[in-house]
Amino acid sequence: MLPQSTLCLAAVSLAVGQLVRALPSFVASSGDHQNRQDDQSVLSASAPELGFEGYQVWRMPINRKDVENVGKLLNLDIWAHHPSSVDVLVPPHLMSHPLLASYIPNSSHPAFIPDVQKLIAGSSSSAFSSSSFKPYPRPSNGSIPITHPFHDRFHTYDEIHSFLLDLQTAWPEWVDVFSIGQSAEGRDIYAAKISPRVVATHSTTDKDGSDDEEESLKKNRHKHKHGHKKERSKKEMILMGGSHGREWIAPASMLYFAHHLLLNSHAPGVKPLLKTLSFTIVPVLNVDGYEFTHTNSRLWRKTRQVVDEESGCFGIDLNRNWGYHWSSEDDQYPCSDDFPGKHAFQAPETKAMSDYVASKDVISFVDLHSYGQLLMYPFSYSCDDFPPDAEDLMEALLGAAKALRSVQGTAYKTGQVCELVYRAAGDSVDWTYGNQEIKWSASMELPDTGTYGFLLPPREIRPVAEETVAALVYLAHFVVQKEGKLKDI
Ligand SMILES: [Zn+2]
Repeated sequence: MLPQSTLCLAAVSLAVGQLVRALPSFVASSGDHQNRQDDQSVLSASAPELGFEGYQVWRMPINRKDVENVGKLLNLDIWAHHPSSVDVLVPPHLMSHPLLASYIPNSSHPAFIPDVQKLIAGSSSSAFSSSSFKPYPRPSNGSIPITHPFHDRFHTYDEIHSFLLDLQTAWPEWVDVFSIGQSAEGRDIYAAKISPRVVATHSTTDKDGSDDEEESLKKNRHKHKHGHKKERSKKEMILMGGSHGREWIAPASMLYFAHHLLLNSHAPGVKPLLKTLSFTIVPVLNVDGYEFTHTNSRLWRKTRQVVDEESGCFGIDLNRNWGYHWSSEDDQYPCSDDFPGKHAFQAPETKAMSDYVASKDVISFVDLHSYGQLLMYPFSYSCDDFPPDAEDLMEALLGAAKALRSVQGTAYKTGQVCELVYRAAGDSVDWTYGNQEIKWSASMELPDTGTYGFLLPPREIRPVAEETVAALVYLAHFVVQKEGKLKDI
């Protein structure tokens, strides 16, 4: 862990307040337009990869509102909000800017990430790698081991789709890969549903009273062949990731989770879950933004939708575009990294996902992000709107955090989104909980706490995925038990 800044909070807040008040002259003299043209927000779809040589992340222990003001004025990319500090990506041309003078790293408070480009090189996907990508061994004999090298690196959109199809090939009776819709640039948003395709009225029962899945699957194959397939109606647990392009660890962990479920479908810890729930996994919602992080700009967050011809800026922040208390009062500058869109569900990605959720009997929805190591329940838009299920949700998340910690000791904080991160409207779990009444709605911020930020090295994929699996499996068990749908777990 790199050392944190020791700046005096009160003093820094005052200094920033003074600087903010001096803003008009700064804007007039420095050329706001030029700053924004330099920013990655205006990269066109065909722009070359933007390097981050000289960029640093500074942890600024200051009043949140002040730093947000400074961030907006300079169009800075705020990576993470902590209770009394923020992580901010600072480009070299702004490091000596008067508004940032109080935060210039020195020997007593060095830059939190002194060399962003170095970390980018260390977290590269195959697309950024100098060596060409070699396809992994195709599945045979109906199984892919968890030691498969796929989980040892981050992957492009196409590689993820290919792996989902590999899972479907290896476990055809359990996996259904399909598209829930298309992105602004026309890419399919793929989902994988994991559930045994048993026949509702023809499942066999063993002497313990539980279904014999193998027999059911055989019957299902027979029925399917004759056009009489009928899936048992199950409640769904939906896991969604990749709303923000640069958060690569979330899709990687979700693919590992899907793989884990399939490999352990007959194990005591998973079998009862798969009898009760369907798991739908959408590893990458923001497929355009995710692909862009592999081809052009590793730190891209939003979608790639054309939202404002005049400014030339691209993209909607998908986790600000959901339609529960969506607010046009939030940042409406199309070039900002958290632009919420001009109206709720303007992004085809949130529209497709919300349509899918609304069409299913969903009992739990988990939205995975990075970074921060947080397990959170709604709401995000306001702390005044306290969910009536907060006690149950907190109990579930505390248990999930404990299960996660038991794997390798990683500590997660639990609480309400608005308290642990910030207040922001248009959050996915606000909508699933508030609009769809999906009680077990939660979001996760995966590791780390800032040492690598969005740029975890590939060696962290397996450890993070293992502990994430523990948390998600615990949560699924908890939900099933609380809902009284399953007595034998
Ligand atoms: Zn995110």
